[in-house]
Amino acid sequence: MQVLNKYSLIAPCGINCSICMAYLREKNKCPGCRGVDADKPITRIKCKIKTCLNFQKSKVKFCFKCKDFPCNVLEHLDKRYRVKYNMSPIDNLMQIKKSGIKEFLISEEEKWTCRCGGTICVHKGYCYSCGRKANKRTIGG
Ligand SMILES: [Zn+2]
Repeated sequence: MQVLNKYSLIAPCGINCSICMAYLREKNKCPGCRGVDADKPITRIKCKIKTCLNFQKSKVKFCFKCKDFPCNVLEHLDKRYRVKYNMSPIDNLMQIKKSGIKEFLISEEEKWTCRCGGTICVHKGYCYSCGRKANKRTIGG
């Protein structure tokens, strides 16, 4: 499996792959959206953002750099994540745009690291190491 650095674990849409259940699980672990397709679950390969033509052609790193930002696909994804997981990919993108990727990674680490040092999964809402439920207040900001 291709090893990605922390920087490349932030998907073009602003989602942090390192807190995704597909990345955190032991079996059929996803290498992150920027990883090679061969290692990914089929739902990730078919991602409309990753296969977006603007993204493919212009090689923009993040959606906010796109001329169509925020497009319908991204807005749909953002709504789904806000409602279901209390997290906004568009907010993430705006934060990266404003303060840079380094600052964003630091704040993400603070947000999603459990007291035990484990990682809180955005989809499951609990820590993968100790099982402790995430504090909703900390997640939504
Ligand atoms: Zn924990």
